[in-house]
Amino acid sequence: MAMNAIGVDVGGTKIAAGVVTPEGKLLNEVRYPSDGSTKVLLDSIARAVREVRDGYEVGAVCLAVPGLILAQEGKVVFSPNLSTIQGVSLKDELEGRFDLPVTVENDANAAAWGEFRFGAGSEVDHLVFVTLGTGVGGGVITHGVLMRGAQGAGGELGHVTIQATGPRCGCGNHGCLESLASGTAITRRAREVAAKKPDSALGKLASERKLIGEDVTNLAHEGDEAALAVLEETGLWLGIGLAGFVNIFNPEVIAIGGGAAKAGDLILDRARKEMHLRARSPSRDLVEIKEATLGAKSGVIGAAALARDPESGEYVLGA
Ligand SMILES: [Zn+2]
Repeated sequence: MAMNAIGVDVGGTKIAAGVVTPEGKLLNEVRYPSDGSTKVLLDSIARAVREVRDGYEVGAVCLAVPGLILAQEGKVVFSPNLSTIQGVSLKDELEGRFDLPVTVENDANAAAWGEFRFGAGSEVDHLVFVTLGTGVGGGVITHGVLMRGAQGAGGELGHVTIQATGPRCGCGNHGCLESLASGTAITRRAREVAAKKPDSALGKLASERKLIGEDVTNLAHEGDEAALAVLEETGLWLGIGLAGFVNIFNPEVIAIGGGAAKAGDLILDRARKEMHLRARSPSRDLVEIKEATLGAKSGVIGAAALARDPESGEYVLGA
């Protein structure tokens, strides 16, 4: 029987935990900082789970964590943005404290699953999810199943090489999709364009203070050509990446989430055009590229939707 589950989104700066119903409704949410030692972090996760659980019937907990996860063991192998949990078996550390089954998943996989169950992919069986944040995360659902690969390390769509001699990526490679289409890439490109076009609104703002990603979106919405050019180029690189995903996975929907997705069609129109030029028919004609709908809640809702009953192996929220 489907019942509520708790999803915990463990990010580089904060922990968000919430109780989610079988219909995907987030009933409540608490947030704590994710800084401090491993012990402090584990205590904060435990406290967040206890607080949200209070007064609700809950069947299981799932943690969405950035980095490489061995989902079977509930262990974090590699987490460059949250080094305090690297090497920690979160399942073993936390299960005893809650008296509830605990599973651990990659954060982008969890967000992808959230969009598949309750968001932009809820009407389809084949979904590719790409999140444009500080980095670029990805998740792939085919035939209604989350693709994890042999070790749970699959679906790393942000680290596909798009440009052989492109910018250095956080992973060590050059020219990854992440190095060309992430929020970080947008700000880097914005600073370059601002230096070349000092008379643009973007250039003027850059002379006053350090640009952030939101500035680019705001100025582009106001029609500044320099800001529009930054987003257009981002859409170009994104579209090249998406063309590859379309050819490989033949998805019905590609959902784009993350902070940079707030730029919407200012990035996506060019991405759609580029994808269509490069991908093959009939896949390119079927696929719909659209904004993800769960926003910042996708991690908590997606994690909850991946919480499992350890005996049956079934998702606690149902599937
Ligand atoms: Zn990379």
